[in-house]
Amino acid sequence: MRFSFWFYLCKSVTVLFIVFFCLLIFLAEGFWKNLLIDIALSIILTVCFIGMVMAFVMLFRPLKMKCPFCNEYGEVGGDKAEGIYMICDNCGKIKGTGFFKTKLSCTNEDDAQ
Ligand SMILES: [Zn+2]
Repeated sequence: MRFSFWFYLCKSVTVLFIVFFCLLIFLAEGFWKNLLIDIALSIILTVCFIGMVMAFVMLFRPLKMKCPFCNEYGEVGGDKAEGIYMICDNCGKIKGTGFFKTKLSCTNEDDAQ
């Protein structure tokens, strides 16, 4: 799996989660609300499940994903302060930066070309 895919998937789910709760509060009871809850819950639960499986795998061996800059495989990690990031042998540490941390960048950006 590509790291950028997983990175943006996590971002989308976080946004979806917020939107989901807003709609839950403001939307009137009825067909559309039920439909929306079904769809949102399926997506969130699916991604949570994938995340759970990956976290489980990470307990036993390093999780490898494809680097978005050079396509080599690198180790993925994460913590509360920095969110999810990956370590690439060529590009250094790759993580989200900028507005809402939505832009991926690496520490050795000049060598990544
Ligand atoms: Zn790389």
